[in-house]
Amino acid sequence: MQLIDGKSLANKIQEGVAESVEALKREKNIVPGLAVILIGDDPASHAYVKMKAKACEKVGFYSITHHMPDTISQDEIIATIKMMNDNPRIDGILVQLPLPKHIDTDKILEVIDPKKDVDGFHPYNVGRLVTGLDGFVACTPLGVMKMFDAYDIDLEGKDVCVVGASNIVGKPMASLLLNANATVTITHIYTKDLKTHTLAADIVVVGVGVPGLIKADMVKEGAIVIDIGINRIEDGSLVGDVDFPEVSKKCSHITPVPGGVGPMTIAMLLENTLKSAKKRDA
Ligand code: NAD
Repeated sequence: MQLIDGKSLANKIQEGVAESVEALKREKNIVPGLAVILIGDDPASHAYVKMKAKACEKVGFYSITHHMPDTISQDEIIATIKMMNDNPRIDGILVQLPLPKHIDTDKILEVIDPKKDVDGFHPYNVGRLVTGLDGFVACTPLGVMKMFDAYDIDLEGKDVCVVGASNIVGKPMASLLLNANATVTITHIYTKDLKTHTLAADIVVVGVGVPGLIKADMVKEGAIVIDIGINRIEDGSLVGDVDFPEVSKKCSHITPVPGGVGPMTIAMLLENTLKSAKKRDA
């Protein structure tokens, strides 16, 4: 069994981003800029935003966080996003999800300039992904694709089961896999018999938010298992959606939680922001 080490791969990618930032500064006097909009006091959202800001600092980006109370109106959030759309120092805009219930998330995401949509959630970029055109791709599934690439995992013709079908994880994941010529099955909470699908797959990619959902009897011998789930359990530790101790005995490759997909998500956010900054003059 080979562990897919997202942490060290993400570190390598971050070093590459830092070098490109140096070159961009030197040659074009451009410092990539990321604006993060954080609403409310959800501890997990705060932790993610802190990690993203730290990563930006490490690679030499300019970054700002707009922290707003959860009583903020939708119009005020929209006004802030529009300000960031017009700010020439900002190449990427990220709205940390989930948003408070009185805010229409779809409406908010549609206000972001697609050219600065480094999370890849704007319908324009989602459409480009589905059609196989270049654009911004959601960071978590993009990070998973980088892992396949780094570990020479060929996707063509493979049977892949994606568990979870959210707009930010499962659906873009399935599109990327399909674009890479895999045969993709998408499963979700209404799937009648999850095990039938996971057991038939060469590769299982799970992002649902249910600790230990995928058990050893649900994956075939030699399968590749990618665990996107991040769940904080009662003892305070972080676990994924896969029963790692048991499933790992059957796999050819598996990602750990933490240290797997999580760090890759941040690395992809940096790459997407850099990509946007490189097109600043275009
Ligand atoms: P979500 O709640 O929006 O979507 C969950 C999906 O899982 C839905 O499609 C739902 O139908 C499906 N699902 C739920 N229970 C299921 C079950 N028992 N069987 C089959 N399908 C089931 O969640 P999300 O935002 O997509 O996040 C999913 C998980 O991924 C969470 O644990 C989240 O913390 C994690 N996540 C990790 C990263 C990362 O960087 N590693 C990034 C984003 C999300």
